[in-house]
Amino acid sequence: MPDKTTNMLKIGEAAKRLGTAVETIRMYEREGLVLTHKTATGQRLYSEADLHWLDCIRRLIKEQSLNIEGIRRLLALIPCWDIKPCTAEERRGCPAYLSSIKPCWHIKSELPGGCREADCRACPVYQSARECTNLKTLRLRYSKEG
Ligand code: SF4
Repeated sequence: MPDKTTNMLKIGEAAKRLGTAVETIRMYEREGLVLTHKTATGQRLYSEADLHWLDCIRRLIKEQSLNIEGIRRLLALIPCWDIKPCTAEERRGCPAYLSSIKPCWHIKSELPGGCREADCRACPVYQSARECTNLKTLRLRYSKEG
């Protein structure tokens, strides 16, 4: 039976598919926009959903004039506490709920136990963020309120 990485692309292949540079993809990862699957030997692999998300980031930068910080702040607006969902008690002490300007997975080490231990790539919060349409909805709401 094929494992879940069978159809995933290496970083060079992903960059070629997207028409971008390997370093750009690495930079998105460093900046906390993308969570990359890594094999036991540290090789980065990208699924179709990852490619869709990487392409969305590039389009937000090129077509919507957002920068990395702007995208990071949009991602921080995703209400992880509702999606999970977290109790009122959990919210009270959670930096992601109280004031974050970074996506929850980027401040994972500061979060309560459940998140600290979690596989964020498999979490509905990250998977929801990776949906480009969700982010555009957030952006519209954000620009109306701004
Ligand atoms: S498990 Fe990860 S992605 Fe999910 S809410 Fe916690 S920090 Fe965020």
